[in-house]
Amino acid sequence: MSVALVTGGSRGIGRVIAENLAKDGFNIAICYSGNEQAAQETIELCKKHGVQAMFIKADVSNSGEVTELFAQIKELLGPVEVLVNNAGITKDGLLLRMTEEDFDKVIDINLKGTFLCTKVAIKDMLKAKVGRIINITSIVGVQGNPGQSNYCASKAGIIGFTKSVAREYGSKNITVNAIAPGFIQTAMTDVLPEDVKNAYLKQIPLARFGTAEDVANVVSFLASEKASYITGQVIEVTGGM
Ligand code: NAP
Repeated sequence: MSVALVTGGSRGIGRVIAENLAKDGFNIAICYSGNEQAAQETIELCKKHGVQAMFIKADVSNSGEVTELFAQIKELLGPVEVLVNNAGITKDGLLLRMTEEDFDKVIDINLKGTFLCTKVAIKDMLKAKVGRIINITSIVGVQGNPGQSNYCASKAGIIGFTKSVAREYGSKNITVNAIAPGFIQTAMTDVLPEDVKNAYLKQIPLARFGTAEDVANVVSFLASEKASYITGQVIEVTGGM
């Protein structure tokens, strides 16, 4: 049975991605940054589908912890064949009020984390002669968004990274794609004021916010055999926003 790692799989979109991949028959590993109880809950949900599942606390922006994360997964489940770089944070603020620390933190976790995990994962994918890397970016990485210059830069960076790595490893049967969600209902968006949410809703032709399932369904497709001729793409899951 193949192994899928979902970073930031303890909550939100990552949890549903992990559960869906378990339903698809993958053994599941997730990492998280602090919320152990939530990570445990995700693992229980995955195990209900009859697969093996494990969680490890690992900060994706720390290269030592990322190396250890992959070593532990390999020891317990086997090498990672599907990597979903989902862990992400926001630290919003208008440019003139944004601190250097908040800029660095968002780039470190969202963009550098994607780089670190991909770099370790790809070694075993090369040996296995197969691999799927799915990076969760955001529609604002394409369009920009006031108050999120750090976040948008990190997500735009993930798009460039995805396209480059796809070109580097396509001939090795490793596909690398990105998913750009729009407004998805999770803890990340629950904190926004009602007037901001209503303004977003008016821009969505399908007239509803997205769900974590909407994103997880596309991850399952990209991880499947059906997507074997797709690489270097950014698939928008935005309700047409
Ligand atoms: P969320 O509910 O806030 O969950 C974030 C997840 O990332 C949690 O599992 C968290 O772990 C983990 N995490 C945070 N920092 C980490 C670190 N340094 N190392 C490892 N794990 C870390 O977020 P979400 O809304 O599900 O978003 C998931 C992804 O989708 C993100 O990349 C986000 O940018 C992207 N996205 C979301 C939306 C949206 O509307 N929600 C739209 C576009 C893109 P803990 O539980 O331990 O904190």
